[in-house]
Amino acid sequence: MEGLEIQDIWKRFGEVDVLRGVSFKQEKGEILALLGPSGSGKTTLLEIIAGLADPDQGDCLWNGESLLEVPPHLRNFGLMFQEYVLFPHKNVGENVAFGLKMAGTNREITSTRVEEVLDLVGLSGLEDRDPATLSGGEQQRIALARSLAPEPRLVMLDEPLGALDRSIRERLIGELRDILKSSSQTALYVTHDQEEAFRIADRVVILGNGKTAQIGTPRQIYHQPNSPYIARFLGMNNLLKGEAKPSPKGTVLETDIGTWLVEDPHQGSGVILIRPDQVRVGPEDDKRASSLTGKLVSSSFSSSAIHLNIEINSHQLGFSCSDCGMDIPQTGEPIQISFDPNKALLFIPA
Ligand code: ADP
Ligand code: MG
Repeated sequence: MEGLEIQDIWKRFGEVDVLRGVSFKQEKGEILALLGPSGSGKTTLLEIIAGLADPDQGDCLWNGESLLEVPPHLRNFGLMFQEYVLFPHKNVGENVAFGLKMAGTNREITSTRVEEVLDLVGLSGLEDRDPATLSGGEQQRIALARSLAPEPRLVMLDEPLGALDRSIRERLIGELRDILKSSSQTALYVTHDQEEAFRIADRVVILGNGKTAQIGTPRQIYHQPNSPYIARFLGMNNLLKGEAKPSPKGTVLETDIGTWLVEDPHQGSGVILIRPDQVRVGPEDDKRASSLTGKLVSSSFSSSAIHLNIEINSHQLGFSCSDCGMDIPQTGEPIQISFDPNKALLFIPA
């Protein structure tokens, strides 16, 4: 296979196994996001791939060949970290040229390449500027240009937008994807932010409990979280214990708050997720043939929606509506929700 292959990586610090058998493959040209909560071992894994740390067990391969004996500077991987450490006493051009100089690239090729990558990140003509006079977002793009300049076969970005304001982050994440895609750059993007991972990546690897908890395209993971852990991590908290039982007409999902007939191949015990985006606040209609009545516990407003906490048979569930199909009742009053069970309910086997 062309690209990166991580095979069963283990790493222990003191008494704790931080990585407990992480495996995944990354195709050449692919943007992969490595997503996990803070402390889940993302940076540790990047350091192992970069050759800055050794795994206790397992292997990293590039194009099928082990990297373990290859020293960091010969791996031809680029790195960019959260604290965009641009060299303060060098101008933008010198910063971007750094890796090329280290590799002994001649002046002419270096200056052409510097121009090229500055153009790629949308900062042409800033070669002579002092980095300190640029905005945080601009500095981040210079740091990206610096890591891309030596044309690394893999660039690894460790929470590169972590230090920036939310609004800048939201704009930069789309630009970053465009930049990486336009140069077909293979990139491993590390973040704890689900939204960021989903926006930038072709595929997402979620780390949980030291292992690869789920791998897939953003769409696949969102539509089919494979465990309650993943569902919760993605902010889908409407989870109920339930049973999937076969019946002549399909599968019957049984929970504390209701029983529904769905087309689902699974059976057994598990957890049932009610997707908030597939639930309408209000009574049933043609499209949403099933409804539940609960009690409104609380409501809050944000720019995009009204968020409602609804208690149904002692379970608190969260829903939101931007264009609510009804007047929102007072706290403590009954409120109805409606949905198509086949779209709104996902059975996750135990
Ligand atoms: P993440 O990048 O996902 O936030 P890290 O890889 O930085 O996670 O860290 C994972 C865990 O390993 C943390 O608990 C951290 O304290 C620990 N750790 C990381 N590096 C070292 C080290 N060099 N020595 C001891 N513990 C470490
Ligand atoms: Mg980290």
